[in-house]
Amino acid sequence: MKKIRIAEPILGSEVEELVVSVLRSGHLAQGPMVQRFEGLCAQMAGSDHAVAFANGTLALEATLRGLGIGEGDEVVTTPFTFVATVNAVLATGAKVRFADIGDDLNLDPAATEDAINPKTRAILPVHLYGLPADLVRFAELAEKHGLALIEDAAQAHGASVGDRPVGGYGTGVFSFYATKNVTAGEGGVVTTSDAELDARLRILRHQGMRGKYEYEVIGSNLRMTDVQAAIAIPQLEGLDELMRKRSENAEHLFSLLEQVDGLGLPKVPSGRSHAWHQFTVLLPDGVDRTKVVEVMTSSEIEVLVYYPKPIWDYPPYADNPSVMNHDTPNAVAASQRCLSLPVHPGLDKNDLQRVAETFVEALGR
Ligand SMILES: *Cc1c(COP(=O)(O)O)cnc(C)c1O
Repeated sequence: MKKIRIAEPILGSEVEELVVSVLRSGHLAQGPMVQRFEGLCAQMAGSDHAVAFANGTLALEATLRGLGIGEGDEVVTTPFTFVATVNAVLATGAKVRFADIGDDLNLDPAATEDAINPKTRAILPVHLYGLPADLVRFAELAEKHGLALIEDAAQAHGASVGDRPVGGYGTGVFSFYATKNVTAGEGGVVTTSDAELDARLRILRHQGMRGKYEYEVIGSNLRMTDVQAAIAIPQLEGLDELMRKRSENAEHLFSLLEQVDGLGLPKVPSGRSHAWHQFTVLLPDGVDRTKVVEVMTSSEIEVLVYYPKPIWDYPPYADNPSVMNHDTPNAVAASQRCLSLPVHPGLDKNDLQRVAETFVEALGR
């Protein structure tokens, strides 16, 4: 039986040809391909600028530094995320203040406003599973309180709210890790329409240098290579088609699972378009998640728990004076019931039928 994986990069002959062209050019480090990649990323986010980085975590950290956020500052974010969101903030010396999530499983604007205090410098919503957070309200909140809005769009390439793509409301940060909707193996990008931030990010990325050996700040080597960029470029050029296929697969899963008693299907609030990085359901009460995972795995279907606990519930963060507010009951509840099913564009209707049938069997419904 064919193994159905939770993520699978779709790399056609265009990728192979472009990568080979880089290898033959002899230009392996950051160069013209990275520039082309940045142009496509700016287009994707509807921003004036895009700055490529070695990975998404460093892109996020550089964004915070570029905005002048560090020691003595606080950033409000969700505890129901991949740990990179939190690690990037802590790496700058700033503190993390968690606010709870809403029905959309993303950072809740009302809880966020309650968490804002005089030390707050930025709001950092995550577009979890590819569903944009409530960016209209977050943009209002940021404006009202004079805060930076940073979007962790690592999972949400091409998603939008209204007619504007994510990564264009605030400063956008995307990841191009191997399992993301668009991949470079490893990679990250920051999208912004702030020319000064764009310039600072380029300096931070390149050892703090403005011109050759003109060190302006303490930077590092955060650069992407042309090989990485060449892997991602054809996927960005074909993003509409990749997104269409994900969305079609999600629709099909909805139709196969809508009758399942007690199952929480993904919520897509009106006005938001989902990038379907994951199709994440909330299991019915009383279902043993470990058993469901076992049944799926033994049927060669990969399902995963994104994420098993809120970040504050892990030892490095639990007793950490830089990590504040461990009272997020919605995040706890979601982490106990969530399970992500395969939805990636490499799957056809038969694969999805197998996923749904095996899943319903595993639930004992
Ligand atoms: C993948 C991911 C990141 C970090 O990206 P890397 O490129 O792996 O460093 C950040 N935030 C979220 C929510 C992610 O899923």
